[in-house]
Amino acid sequence: MSSDETFNELHWQHDLLGSIEVGLAVLDKQFNVLVWNQFMENHSGILPSQIRGKCLFDFFKEIDRDWFQRKAEPVFNLRSSAFMIWEQRPYLFKFESNRPITSASEHMFQNVTVFPLTSLNDQVEQICLVVYDVTDEALGKLQIQRLNETLENMSRVDGLTGLYNRRFWEEQFNLEYKRSKRAGHPASLIMLDIDHFKRVNDTYGHPGGDDVIKMLARIIKKSVRETDVCGRYGGEEFAILLPDTTAKQARIVAERIRKLAEHVPVEHEEHTIVFTVSLGIAELQDSYQQPLVWLEKADQALYEAKESGRNRVCISPS
Ligand code: GH3
Ligand code: MG
Ligand code: MG
Repeated sequence: MSSDETFNELHWQHDLLGSIEVGLAVLDKQFNVLVWNQFMENHSGILPSQIRGKCLFDFFKEIDRDWFQRKAEPVFNLRSSAFMIWEQRPYLFKFESNRPITSASEHMFQNVTVFPLTSLNDQVEQICLVVYDVTDEALGKLQIQRLNETLENMSRVDGLTGLYNRRFWEEQFNLEYKRSKRAGHPASLIMLDIDHFKRVNDTYGHPGGDDVIKMLARIIKKSVRETDVCGRYGGEEFAILLPDTTAKQARIVAERIRKLAEHVPVEHEEHTIVFTVSLGIAELQDSYQQPLVWLEKADQALYEAKESGRNRVCISPS
């Protein structure tokens, strides 16, 4: 190749490196920078002449050196490429986002590919970093995630059981507290919790536990009136609000649930899971000054049921 041709080729390569919309940086084994394209210059404000021959880590303190070296090791030694994606680390180089007005993000999200460059003697002496600006994609995805969370919060129903979620149930509970107090009608609350549920999870795994939770929800729905308000209060804890119901009447419902739980086995894969529940009941009293007191009374009765042997119903003393 004549020197003219070589020059032309270099010129052509230089233009190409400058015009592409990805960052390119070539590093040697000491992580000294050999190539630094226009994209890298524009976003870092560091000229190739400033960084060439210098160690990358001296310029970018945000890069965790040990982690990066670990990532680069197989690229040098095994000639395999390495990938860094924004979901795991938002960026490698902390560049400003060039959409400061419209975007919620201050920085550029990046995907980075690191691949080996083989020299003439078939050794990998250098690696090439390709930095992709994926800010638009990342912001879009994050926005959808936030939207989904909001929708889930707005929803009234718990996904696993189809019962009301805690937030909505508590809203109904507060309303019923006021309504029953004002009207002078009785109202009762049942709190229930699966016995030794940790053992169920430990023995059959989380999906086995989930099947038990689903079965209990079905039992609860079958055992109550349409006007009763059933909610999943926590992981394996449920709350049932029974308007126009005394504690004595609520006990009948609670016993029905307890017996069904005890006798309806849950088929999970090739196993049959047997489980029991403990229940606590509290009837609304005039003396309760706020709904929280009512809830605490039912919870105390539930605690009592657990303490006195589980698989039983206890009523809060009025
Ligand atoms: P106790 O009889 O005293 O209630 O004993 P327990 O083992 O049931 O104790 P506790 O109520 O504290 O345990 C609740 C367990 O439920 C712990 C948690 O890992 C599990 N859990 C919570 N939510 C879920 C869920 O959605 N699915 C499954 N499978 N397990 C859950
Ligand atoms: Mg519990
Ligand atoms: Mg439990």
